[in-house]
Order: sequence, then C-alpha cells, then structure tokens
Amino acid sequence: MVALSTISVWRRVLSTRHRGRMIDATTAERWMRAALEEAAAAVDHGDVPVGAIVVAPDGTEVGRGRNRREQLADPTAHAELEALRAAAATLGGWRLDGCTLVVTLEPCPMCAGALVQSRVAALVFGADDPKAGAVTSLFDLVRDPRLPHRVEVLRGVLAADCAALLRSFFAPRRYTPRRQGARVDEWGGLENR
Ligand SMILES: [Zn+2]
Repeated sequence: MVALSTISVWRRVLSTRHRGRMIDATTAERWMRAALEEAAAAVDHGDVPVGAIVVAPDGTEVGRGRNRREQLADPTAHAELEALRAAAATLGGWRLDGCTLVVTLEPCPMCAGALVQSRVAALVFGADDPKAGAVTSLFDLVRDPRLPHRVEVLRGVLAADCAALLRSFFAPRRYTPRRQGARVDEWGGLENR
C-alpha cells in the first residue's frame, strides 16, 4: 500500500509538471495558420506541403521550417527537423525546454524521435497521417513512458485545412505520374514529405 501511494503521488507530481504548458486553442490555431503558410510555400519547390513553427515559452516564434526533401535532396529535410534546428540556433542550445512545436501533419517516427530528443514541452498538429504517423496513428513515440522525456499533445488543430492543402497538392499528381516531385505511388503514407 505504501508503494502504491508513493507511485500515485509521483504520478500527480509528474502531471503537475506538465500542466499549463500547452498553449490555448486560440493561440494554437493562430500558430497553425502560420505553419500552413510555411507549408504552402513548399509547393513552390515541388515538396509536399508540410510546415512547422517552434514557439518559445514566452509566446514568440524561435524557428520555422517546411518540407524541403525534394529541394535539398535530403531524406531528413522534414518541416519539423528544419524548425527544431532553427529554434536551437536561435536559442543557442539543443534543449528546447518549454517550447511548443506546431506542425500541419502528424509527425513521422524520425520527427517524433527528434521531438523527444529536443525536450520540447508540447506538440500541436493538424492532420493525422494514418500511414506513417508516430504520435497517434501507428505509434505514440512522444508519450512513451519508457523514453526519458514525454511531450504533451494537442491533435487536430485546423485539421481540415491542413488535409485540404495536402489533397490539393496530390490531386493533380494522381493523373500525371511522370511529373517531377511527389508521385502518386508515394501518396501512401506521405512518403515524399
Ligand atoms: Zn518527419
């Protein structure tokens, strides 16, 4: 009984530590609109439109990024990694304590891992990625209690807008498979972002 009550106290302490870190719904939507603008810019260089913003605990933007995998010919050039790198450069260190990453699409396993590594406090995402998502769809890497850090999650912010942008990118490509950039056969799991 003693052990159980000790565990329950620690659970309460841990949940208190995380409480209040998540930005409110209105603020989340405002940042998601900024992430959507960043995502839309990826289309200019033939990349799947995914955008991300890192917001510091004081509510200011410290980094942003968009998918540049085609542009840079870099398999790791996802929006989240670009935004995390920019934020670390702005803040002068790899620990992004208290920061929130806002991204238009559910992160993949690589980016979910990077969120844990960066120690961000919170993740806000828009559309689900049922084929490759590593936050709710296939895995939950950012809230796995076996890992040394957990991230608070707000899911589905402006999800319809985020999904519509992706659909508008892929729709014409479904019928022109020879076109440069993302191809219809890569649509499954948004593998080209
Ligand atoms: Zn990713």
